[in-house]
This record gives sequence, structure tokens and C-alpha cells, in this order.
Amino acid sequence: MSGEKTAIITGSNSGIGLGVAWELARAGVNVVLNSYTNDESDHALAAEIAKETGLDARYIQADMSKGNACRVLIEKAGGCDILVNNAGIQHVAPIEDFPVEKWDAIIAINMSSAFHTTAVALPIMRERGWGRVVNIASAHGLTASPYKSAYVAAKHGVVGMTKAVALETAQEPITCNAICPGYVLTPLVEAQIPDTAKKYNMSKEEVAQKIILERQPSKEFATVEQLGQTVNFLCSSAADQITGTTISVDGGWTAL
Ligand code: NAD
Repeated sequence: MSGEKTAIITGSNSGIGLGVAWELARAGVNVVLNSYTNDESDHALAAEIAKETGLDARYIQADMSKGNACRVLIEKAGGCDILVNNAGIQHVAPIEDFPVEKWDAIIAINMSSAFHTTAVALPIMRERGWGRVVNIASAHGLTASPYKSAYVAAKHGVVGMTKAVALETAQEPITCNAICPGYVLTPLVEAQIPDTAKKYNMSKEEVAQKIILERQPSKEFATVEQLGQTVNFLCSSAADQITGTTISVDGGWTAL
């Protein structure tokens, strides 16, 4: 990989997406960061990556809940060799109480956005003669938990789409895979800790160990650096024949 390649990482002003952007840039790839906001702090994240790596790093605002905005993001980036579909949100509620607008938003951001970005990115990759689509799915793309119907549906959908895209590109120098993280300590997970601590009268550390990591046999969170390096592996020549599959980074969760 070199600064000749450009990666677009959706939902990358925080958490896993930002970690992936840093690892790709450290490996010599130009990066395009994204989220739905357009704050100075968003652009500053890209500037920091550019400063430290000497590569081209930019931030482009686009709301991944809107199909057209997903498509425009790819067009605006002016090149796409690596597409990391990472943007995601969560909402937890029994299905009978699940707010319809939350269902629609999770399906749009966590699943349909990857359809729109991939549809526009593939012709660009074909023209450039190489490409990698990496979808950040979840252990919830392979197994389920109660009260996460929309998230589980969206992540299973992403895993299914990953296989279809891999078959459509199987005879080209393009691969499409999904990474399935277990729990990673990011704002998305941290946000769930205070309420749970209150509910069970536990400390935040106890919630992390006894409730969140209950299903993760390693009893350790995966890190954003590990996920970024897994993306780098999928972008390396060692992974040329890896397509249409999932790589779990989940401390043994899906072995249970
Ligand atoms: P996070 O909340 O830190 O990051 C989510 C990112 O998506 C943020 O950059 C946010 O701004 C962006 N985003 C949200 N709505 C958006 C929209 N409408 N348009 C554009 N961007 C939007 O959470 P994270 O844990 O880093 O999650 C990243 C991905 O990893 C998600 O797809 C999530 O489902 C997946 N994941 C996370 C974990 C975990 O334990 N943290 C585990 C498995 C999978």
C-alpha cells in the first residue's frame, strides 16, 4: 500500500472508524474521514492524521442515513481504492416497543448506506484496477442478542450483502469482506454503561466485566487499533484470495 491509494471510511470521527483511518494512514494510504456533522473538530481529526503521516487526509460531511448523501460522498472523494463501511448506531428495546424511527435509522445507517457507497465505489475500483470493500459488521451479524432486533437484522444484512458483492467481483482484483467485532470500548459502548450501572447498582468497572464482557470469553475489549490492523491485513496481498467471508475479532464470542 502507498499514498497512491485512497480509503474512504464512513462514520470515522470517532471510535472504530477513526482507529481504522489512523491505521490505514500509518500504512501509507490517503484517508477520507466522514460523519454527519461538519464541525471544526471533525476537520481537525483529518488535519492531525495528515500532519503526523504526511499523507492526504480529508474530512467530508455526509449523512449516511440518506442514500443520495452516501453516493455523493464517494463521488466527492475523487478516488476510492478502499471502502470501509463503518458508520453505525445502536438502540436497545423489546421489539414491541421498538420506535419505528429508530428501526428505520438503524437499517439505513448500519446497512443501506453500505449498499449505496458500494454501488458507487465499485465502478471506480474497476477503473483503477484494484479494490477492497471492508464492511464493519459485528458479532451481531453472526449471532443475536435480545432487544437489538434492528441492529442484529442490519448486521446480518451486511454480512449477506458482503457475500453477494464478493461473488459479483470474484473474477476481478477486488475483494469484499466483513469484520465482525465483539465488544470494543468506544463511545457507542461507553454510552450504555452509566444506565446499566444505575440499573444494577454496580460500578462502571463491574458493568464492563460482568455485563458487557459476559459473552466475550477473553474478558477483554478488542481495540480500535486491532480492528484497523485487521483492515490493513484485508488490504494486503496476503488477502488477495480472501473474499465473501467474515473475520471475527471478538475474543471467542462466536465460538460459544
Ligand atoms: P461510535 O459511536 O464511536 O462510532 C460510530 C460512527 O458512526 C461515528 O463516527 C458517528 O459519527 C458515525 N455516524 C453515526 N450516524 C451517522 C450518520 N447518520 N452519518 C454518518 N456517520 C454517522 O461507535 P463504534 O463502536 O466505533 O462503531 C463503529 C461501527 O462498529 C458501527 O457500525 C458498530 O455497529 C460497529 N461495532 C462496534 C462494536 C463495539 O463494541 N464498539 C462492536 C461491533 C460492531
